[in-house]
Amino acid sequence: MKVSDCITNGEWCIPEYIVNRDSNLATHICNITLPVDDIPDMLCWASVPDGILTNKIAFRTLNGIGQRTVWANSLWNTHTPPSRSFITWRLLNNKLPTDENLRKRGCFIVSICCFCLQESETSQHIFFDCPVTSNLWEWLRKGTNQSLDCTNCLLMLIGGLSISSKMVQQLVQSIIIHTIWVIWRERNQRYFHDKKQAMTTLFNTILSEVNQSYNLSLVKGSPAMLDYNVAKLFNIPFKVKRITPIHGTSWKPPSAGVFKLNCDGSSIGSQPCGSIGIVIRDSDSNFIGAICSNIGHATPLEAEFSACMLAIERAQHMGLTNICLETDSLQVVNAFRTKLGAPWKMRARWFNCLKFCYGIICSFVHIPREGNMVADVIAKNGQGLSLYSTQWWSSPPSFINSLLLRDSLGLPFSRLA
Ligand SMILES: [Zn+2]
Repeated sequence: MKVSDCITNGEWCIPEYIVNRDSNLATHICNITLPVDDIPDMLCWASVPDGILTNKIAFRTLNGIGQRTVWANSLWNTHTPPSRSFITWRLLNNKLPTDENLRKRGCFIVSICCFCLQESETSQHIFFDCPVTSNLWEWLRKGTNQSLDCTNCLLMLIGGLSISSKMVQQLVQSIIIHTIWVIWRERNQRYFHDKKQAMTTLFNTILSEVNQSYNLSLVKGSPAMLDYNVAKLFNIPFKVKRITPIHGTSWKPPSAGVFKLNCDGSSIGSQPCGSIGIVIRDSDSNFIGAICSNIGHATPLEAEFSACMLAIERAQHMGLTNICLETDSLQVVNAFRTKLGAPWKMRARWFNCLKFCYGIICSFVHIPREGNMVADVIAKNGQGLSLYSTQWWSSPPSFINSLLLRDSLGLPFSRLA
């Protein structure tokens, strides 16, 4: 038996024996939207919204994502040269060729720390315990006013993640990586070439390296004393995020004879429950109707698409032939214009909606959320409806009255960005 055997004249026609055996399954099948015209079958990759299997997804599926570590982004990023990160990574894995590690590999050597000339050379000693190199860490601790855990490299890196300011966090991580690199480079100079640099020279090298690395990053400081002090310490031009209000996003009525449908989707929770809101108004800002609906489990993208599709279906039901759809989702507008990117689960329904839109006068417009406030509030209201239920208002419900008035007067909503 084929699927097409269960479809007669574009409608589901489930055989009696299936209904008798599993009525839930039959209901589930009947709820699947059928396309009004034949569209070719398509192989879909279920775990991505648009169903398209890319090389990236195939590679990740075959190879797995790999081991995830909390410190990976601190070490490997665009503003730290890989040659510096590499030394810290080798230290983290205790793979630097110190005397201790060479001895483990069977080299018979006399070992002495080339900084203090007192202890034998181990990774822990030259980087953290040596009285000479620990001056560098002490200076860093005082300069940034942060407590650094010098017990080992990993704890030090992870400790940096707890700093609340993004700028200071990034600087401290950059300093740790560059300090380790400078110590190792100096150790090699002393060890192999018998050349010695003063501690102040090492300090200055770290300062300039951290300064250069920071210039490559895009993080900006926040207007706090700690950020200011640390920026001063490293002679960094203090870039602060500016808070500026965005003005002038207001709803505009459509031109004469056009009905404007504002749609919005809302999806809340870790097991997201979706709801949608639609409001229909004419060119005189008159309220024509509003719908809210609870659509059950849905991602934010699915909720946005559902809202627009329900709006189009309602326009079709009302016999509207000149409509303007407004949504704050760029993905929906792009999917309408390019016919790509709609969730594969909604493919047939989206196809039906597009077919209707191409047969009438229809425009699809993106509007910032501030211009879509009425639909946004109705969508949030839908979270309170019982599962899969829909409500239609032919006169405005009280909770949107003030917003409708604001829109009809053309008053803008602002936000801080
Ligand atoms: Zn030492």
